[in-house]
Formats: sequence, structure tokens, C-alpha cells
Amino acid sequence: MARKQQPAAPPASKPKISRMCMVCRTRREKRDLIRIVKTVGSPPAIDLTHKANGRGMYVCKSADCVNQAQKRKVAERAFSCAVDAALYEELKELIGSEGNG
Ligand SMILES: [Zn+2]
Repeated sequence: MARKQQPAAPPASKPKISRMCMVCRTRREKRDLIRIVKTVGSPPAIDLTHKANGRGMYVCKSADCVNQAQKRKVAERAFSCAVDAALYEELKELIGSEGNG
């Protein structure tokens, strides 16, 4: 009596990958963070896909963390380059549009 072999069971739920906010050092899931990526030859930019190549850093989707990042020049230090104020404005807009529900 031949029995069909069951395919190996898929692995149980994947471990959740958490990333650390560069400002408050809290670990969160990626969806609770905004990624900023610095690619060679381009200024730092928001990476909404979380998939862009380059050096990345994460900031909470919180106005506090974005304001702190701007004040303390966290991104400037992380990427060792100038960061346009427009980037922070973009971050604040992103948070504003998600936060005030
Ligand atoms: Zn934070």
C-alpha cells in the first residue's frame, strides 16, 4: 500500500524582523518605521518600499522621533552627509497623513 508522501510542512510563522529607530533606539516592526536610504551618488531619501539598495536607517513613524532626528542631525551622522530639510518635511507629512486618523 503506497501512501503519498506529504510535502514537508511549511515552517511555522516567520520570526518578525524588527528594526531599531535611530533616534529613540526602540525596536519595532518595519511597518512601524520609516526607512531612509542613502544610495551612492544620491542624497538620502525616504524609501517607502523598504527595498532600495544602499545604506538605510529607520525612524519611528512619530513626530517626536522625526523632530529629534532633525534637531540632533541623526541622519547626517548616520550617512555622513548633508540632509536636506525637505527630507524632514516629507517625513513629517508622511506621519501627519497617517497619524491623525
Ligand atoms: Zn523612535
